[in-house]
Amino acid sequence: MAIGWFPGHMAAARKEAAKTLAEVDVVIELLDARLPGASTNPMIETLRLHRQRPCVKVLNKADLADPSATAEWLKALGAEAGVTAVAVSCKSVASARRIPGIAAGLVPHRDSKLKPVRILVMGIPNVGKSTFVNALLKRHAAATGDQPAITKHQSRYQLDPRTELIDMPGLMWPKIAHASDGLMLAASHAIGPNAYVEEEVAEFLAGVLKERYPALVAARYGEAVPSLDAPGVIEAIARKRGFRLKGGDLDYRKGALTLLADYRSGTLGRVSLETPQSRAAMISAASPPADVEMKARRPSLG
Ligand code: GDP
Repeated sequence: MAIGWFPGHMAAARKEAAKTLAEVDVVIELLDARLPGASTNPMIETLRLHRQRPCVKVLNKADLADPSATAEWLKALGAEAGVTAVAVSCKSVASARRIPGIAAGLVPHRDSKLKPVRILVMGIPNVGKSTFVNALLKRHAAATGDQPAITKHQSRYQLDPRTELIDMPGLMWPKIAHASDGLMLAASHAIGPNAYVEEEVAEFLAGVLKERYPALVAARYGEAVPSLDAPGVIEAIARKRGFRLKGGDLDYRKGALTLLADYRSGTLGRVSLETPQSRAAMISAASPPADVEMKARRPSLG
């Protein structure tokens, strides 16, 4: 499935992000704990690595994610150079407020009144960035309205005399390399519904649930799923809930929307859409080793 939206002012946004990264010391990137790989902005990651800025990768919404998958992600992301990974739920003000201190710890040369730590906060839409920033601003910070941010699209706050926070608007990138990333982002509402077909996204989600969380589906909808394919799971939901069209046929769309809503709200339980292993497998399946690719291209002589 192609996720089709228009990148619009993407080149300008990239330029702006590059400029911002040059002027900050450390990055806090909010990721969705249920899809930490798919919710990483590759455009920013490249710029950050180029500028060699350390990063706190915050696995937010950890309250909605599968704790064992989150533990694996923390280990995998924490092993990356210059990265500290933490899992939180920013709905808890106290856990959000731990994060700037962790970021400051990555740049000890800056942490003083003369050289305040300049922290960039970024993340894809709907990852919880406003919730995070609001939690930080609740008690200590004042918006520095008279101080221009680096660009007009960003807000800059003085968290305390030693810490400055720059809040970059939620950014998507022009082309999602893997179709399953688009589906995960759509399922988690990072992409608006105009860009995808909800039934397709629900079928993808049903496939993941069937494979990894069959007990959660059975508990929520009273339906054992092993014998069903992904559309079968959605049909089963529609049947169980009595979703019917006027003529009496199953209302498949309503079943699909119910599954999506239950995943998004956490009603279904704690679900992670990817693990470091599933991501590595997906990427290696998507890009076969070079020699295999070359063999495939060679014209057949037979
Ligand atoms: P933004 O688009 O990145 O600024 O995202 P928002 O801060 O507006 O959050 C998007 C939605 O996610 C809102 O409904 C928040 O209440 C919810 N949200 C944010 N952080 C968390 C979290 O840690 N756990 C849960 N369950 N929901 C969260």
